[in-house]
Amino acid sequence: MPERIETESRKLLGRLRDAMASNVAGQARLDKITHLIADSMGTEVCSVYLFRDEDTLELCATQGLDAASVHQTRMRLGEGLVGRVARTGKVMNTPNAPAEKGFRYMPETGEERYSSFLGVPIQRLGEKLGVLVVQSRDAREYTADELYALEVVAMVIAEMTELGAFVGEGAALSARHQQPVLFRGTTAQEGAAEGHVWLHEPRVVVTNPIADDPHRELERLHEAVEELRVGVDRMLDISRSGDTEQLQVLEAYRMFANSKGWMRRMEEDISRGLSAEAAVEKEQSLARARIGQVSDSYLRERLSDLDDLSNRLLRILTGQGSETGAEMPDDPILIARNIGPAELLEYGRKLRGVVLEDGSVGSHAAIVARALAIPLVVHAGRIATEALNGDHIMVDGDQATVHLRPDDSVVTAFRDKIAMQAQAQERYASIRERPAVTLCGSRIEMNMNAGLMADLPSLVGSGAEGVGLFRTELQFLIRNQMPKRTELAELYSRVLDSAHGKEVVFRTLDIGSDKVLPYMKPNDEPNPALGWRAIRVGLDKPGVMRMQLQALIRAANGRSLTIMFPFVAQFEEYRAACVELEKTIAREKRLGHVLPETLKVGAMLETPSLVFAPEKFFQDVEFLSIGGNDLKQFFFAADRENERVRRRYDTLNVSFLSLIEMIVERCARTDTPLSFCGEDAGRPIEALCLAAIGLRSLSMRPASIGPVKSLLLRSDLVQVRRVIDEARDRGDQSVRPAVMEYLRDQA
Ligand code: PEP
Ligand code: MG
Repeated sequence: MPERIETESRKLLGRLRDAMASNVAGQARLDKITHLIADSMGTEVCSVYLFRDEDTLELCATQGLDAASVHQTRMRLGEGLVGRVARTGKVMNTPNAPAEKGFRYMPETGEERYSSFLGVPIQRLGEKLGVLVVQSRDAREYTADELYALEVVAMVIAEMTELGAFVGEGAALSARHQQPVLFRGTTAQEGAAEGHVWLHEPRVVVTNPIADDPHRELERLHEAVEELRVGVDRMLDISRSGDTEQLQVLEAYRMFANSKGWMRRMEEDISRGLSAEAAVEKEQSLARARIGQVSDSYLRERLSDLDDLSNRLLRILTGQGSETGAEMPDDPILIARNIGPAELLEYGRKLRGVVLEDGSVGSHAAIVARALAIPLVVHAGRIATEALNGDHIMVDGDQATVHLRPDDSVVTAFRDKIAMQAQAQERYASIRERPAVTLCGSRIEMNMNAGLMADLPSLVGSGAEGVGLFRTELQFLIRNQMPKRTELAELYSRVLDSAHGKEVVFRTLDIGSDKVLPYMKPNDEPNPALGWRAIRVGLDKPGVMRMQLQALIRAANGRSLTIMFPFVAQFEEYRAACVELEKTIAREKRLGHVLPETLKVGAMLETPSLVFAPEKFFQDVEFLSIGGNDLKQFFFAADRENERVRRRYDTLNVSFLSLIEMIVERCARTDTPLSFCGEDAGRPIEALCLAAIGLRSLSMRPASIGPVKSLLLRSDLVQVRRVIDEARDRGDQSVRPAVMEYLRDQA
C-alpha cells in the first residue's frame, strides 16, 4: 500500500517539521521528536543515540526507555546492537534482539522487555552522527515502508544536528563545529602556518529538509535537473575539442544527469515528504558512503563525479553559489577535499597553507604548493566536513598535523615554533646577498630548482644565483592538454624576463616513470622507472622535443640560453639529442627567428652508466648536473617512490660518496662544470659533504638555500673532508655519524 505509507511518512515528516518550527529548543526538541516517532509508528520505544566523541555513543533522548538513563547510558563503537549499527553504517532490523549476536543488556534502560529492534544510522554526507532506534515488546519485523520512513527521519535528524537544532537552552548535545580537533595527515610540503579557514567549496546547507507540497517539490526538482542537464551539455560542447579526461568526466556527468534510476529515487523521496534538496542530499550521502567502500578506482571516480553533480544540483536548488558572501580572511588556509593545480595557482600567494582530505605527496597540487612555498598536509581525515569558514587553524607541515580551533596551550606552543622559524628566516635573510664562501675559502655556487612561474619570485627572496634546474615537465603536468608551442615560448620568455639575466638551466621534458601526462596514452610498463622515459621518449618520438626546443629558442629571442637533457644513459643519446637541437636551430634560422646569443648544452647525470662514459663525452658536454634522486635509486636499486625502501640507503653511504667523487674527478680532468641538483643538495649535512668532496655548485629548493648557506659559511671543507676520509678508512658504512659528531664538537 505505497499510497497509505506515503501519506504516513509524509504525516510523520509533517509532524517533525512542526516540532522543528516550535520554539522549544535543545533537549526538549529532541524529546518531542522521539515521542512523535514512537507515536506515529506505533512502537513503545524510540531512542536517539549520538556520538559524544569518535568512539562513544550516548543515549541523548528516548521515549519508552528509562528517562534517568538519558545522557548516562553510553556505549563504544561496535558495542551492542546500537554500536554495531553505528560501526557498520548499516540498518539492523530484527524481531528478536536479545537473540542477536553482540546484544548487550543495559539494565539501567529497562531494555530487556523489548523484543523487536530497528536501528538506522544517522549520518550526513558519509559522516556518522549517531543511531536512531525503535523497539517494541512484540516480536515484529518492521516492514520495508516503516524502515524507509525511519531512514528518512534519521536523515532529517542528521540535517537538524548539522544546523544546530539541538543546541540551545538545555542542550541535548554540544554544538558541532566548535570543539578543537586534531587531524593527522601526510606531509606534502613542510612549514608551519597559522590562519583562518577558507573552504574551497563551502558546504551547501539544506535548511528545509521537509516539505508538505510534493507536487511543488517535484516541479522544483525537474526544473533544477533540466538546468543541470543544459549546463552539462553546454560544457560538453565547449570541451569537445579538449582533452579526453575532461570529456570523460563530463560524459559521466551527463549519464548521471539523465539517469532514470537516480531521478526515480529522488522523486520517491519527495513523494514521501522530503524537500527536493533533501532528496538530492540523500542520494549524495549514499554515493559518499559507497565511495568509502569500493576499491575499484574507476568506480570511485564515477561516484565522486556523482558527488560533484549532486553539489551542482544543490547549488541550483538552494541558490547558494560558490559565492556565499563570506569574505576571504587575510590569512587564509585553504581547506578542500581535493584541488587541481590550476585552481590552486589561482589562489596563489594569498594562501598561508593548504589542507586536503585527499591529494597525494606527488600530486600536481603538491608541486604547486611547493612552488608557492606554503605548507601542505594531505589525507587530513574529514577536515572539509568539520571546518567552517573563518575557523582558527594551525597547520604543521613538518609534523603533518592540523589543529582546527586549537585550544590555548596548543596555540602557545605552536606560536613558539613559528617564532623560532621566523628567527631562523631572519638569520637567513641577513646572509642572502653574501656569497657562500666557506672558512677554508671555497666558493660554492647556490642555485635554485624551479618549474613554475610561481617559483620565480623566490629567485630574489632566497638569494639564489640562478636557476640550476628548471623542470619543464611541470607545465605539461598541470594542464589537461598538451601546451602549444606559442604558449610555451611565451612562458619561457617570462621565466627569462623574471630571471633578470641570471642563468636558467632549462631541462627538456622529463616525463614517464612517476611523471605521467594526463593526456598521453599511458604505457603499461612493468618497471616505469627503468622504462620509456625522458630523453628516450624525446629521441624515439622527437615531435614534442623539437617543439619544446623551438619554444626555448624563440623565448630566448637573442638572449643566452642553457639547455639540459635529462636521463642520459650513454654518450650516443646525448649526441643524438644535440643533433636534434642543431637541426632545430637550422630550421629556426631558416624561418628567420633570432638565435640565442650564447647557447650552452649539458646533460643530467642520473644513471650510473654515465659515470663510466668515454672521456670524449666529458669533453663534449658543456656541463653536467648530477640528478641525485635518480642516480641514488639506480645505484642502490631502491625505488625513490617506494616508502619501504626509499630511505633505506643513506646518501652519505661511503659507496655513493665514492661514486660522486669519481664524477667530480672525471669532470675536473676535462674541465667540465659540474653541479648537483637532487633533493640532497638542499639538506645541510648532505650539502656540506658534497662540497667537501669537491662539488662547487648546488641547486635546491629555494627554502633550503638559507639553511645550507648558513652551514657552509661556518664550515671548513678541508676538515670535513678529513673526517669523511677517516670514516671511509675505518670502514664506516656511512660518514654521517662521524660528520655529525664533528659538527657537534664545533658548535
Ligand atoms: C634527480 O633525479 O635528482 C632530479 C633532479 O630530477 P627529478 O627529481 O626531476 O627526477
Ligand atoms: Mg631525475
